[in-house]
Amino acid sequence: GGEAHPAAGQPLLRIEGVAKTFGTFRAVDGVSLDIKAGEFFALLGPSGCGKTTLLRMLAGFEAPDEGRILLGDKDIAQALPHERPINMMFQSYALFPHLSVRDNIAFGLKRAGMARADIATRVAEMVALVKLEGLEKRKPDQLSGGQRQRVALARALARRPQLLLLDEPLAALDKKLRESTQAELMDLQRRLGMTFIIVTHDQEEAMTMASRIGVMNAGRLDQVATPRELYEAPRSRWIAEFVGDINLFDGEFKLRDGHRLVIATDGAGTLVAAEPREPVGATKLSVAVRPEKVKLSRRAPVGEGSAINQLDGVIADICYLGGSTTYKVKLGTGGMVQSSVTNSARLDVDAYSLNQQVVAWFSPDDCMVLDR
Ligand code: ATP
Repeated sequence: GGEAHPAAGQPLLRIEGVAKTFGTFRAVDGVSLDIKAGEFFALLGPSGCGKTTLLRMLAGFEAPDEGRILLGDKDIAQALPHERPINMMFQSYALFPHLSVRDNIAFGLKRAGMARADIATRVAEMVALVKLEGLEKRKPDQLSGGQRQRVALARALARRPQLLLLDEPLAALDKKLRESTQAELMDLQRRLGMTFIIVTHDQEEAMTMASRIGVMNAGRLDQVATPRELYEAPRSRWIAEFVGDINLFDGEFKLRDGHRLVIATDGAGTLVAAEPREPVGATKLSVAVRPEKVKLSRRAPVGEGSAINQLDGVIADICYLGGSTTYKVKLGTGGMVQSSVTNSARLDVDAYSLNQQVVAWFSPDDCMVLDR
């Protein structure tokens, strides 16, 4: 598309009540979402939640049964893929095996009727952009996984779409290459000032790359938030569990003490939590605490408010992860709590050992209260 791109921060895409049913199964169940120009947005969710189907509707490979997809003020929901200034990069890369790197990248430009000289310039630009210089004549089967991924990216970017959709673009890469490619993708997106929507089931990947994340579950968008909001203030128990590690204690509301809630839990006795910003209506609640907020001590810590949320237990499992160690503590009250402790570089600093008696404790401010 030769259309002008909206300036960063301007509304680009509006998805309104979009739904898609296969037979009797609602794969996408009424999704509404606004995307701004220049955003790096991630659609995150477990396998089968409808992420790819939503992306395919944005690209035009699938037509929604309900709802509107507005680009600017134009409803493109029924437009064909090539009529949209949107491009999609597939998980499989879908490169043409018989075409060279250069011809793969040039493919869409030729089909769009671009002049030969312009195509050559644009292809050279794209090859440089994704650092594939010297490999222009190779066929896909003569490339590494990471190089193929970059050819697919260059091809998807060649027509300078207003919006690039990426379906699990890094799934085929090993961990190290995936991490370096994440950084490259972010850098590329910033330099081009483009809008990216990436689909992933990997919450770390979404957190690392995206400025906003939409969590999808069973065809619905459950929460749209920045990575930090999602991690520190998940809207539901399900999201709290899906995004990062978490300790969950199911319990019942007992009383309110100023701005604190007292909750009787099954596994961890009585816990005190700061009142959440959105008031909780139910009495059946869960207290959620991230492992890095749970501290360990040999004996009960003293000091103001220290008697709150102190749990006696025994180290039941130790997982050394380099930068941190995760301890599982079996509590006297019956439950388990996980604590993630940052490691010091000094080997003489004590760590905890298996079966050691400890106190696990955390602040009410680090507790999230969630509806069950
Ligand atoms: P994954 O991460 O595994 O790719 P996803 O979140 O992208 O999952 P979708 O591919 O969007 O999920 O599929 C959502 C649901 O719709 C799945 O249960 C899938 O089986 C179903 N589905 C997708 N396409 C079709 C189709 N053409 N016909 C029937 N069912 C379909």
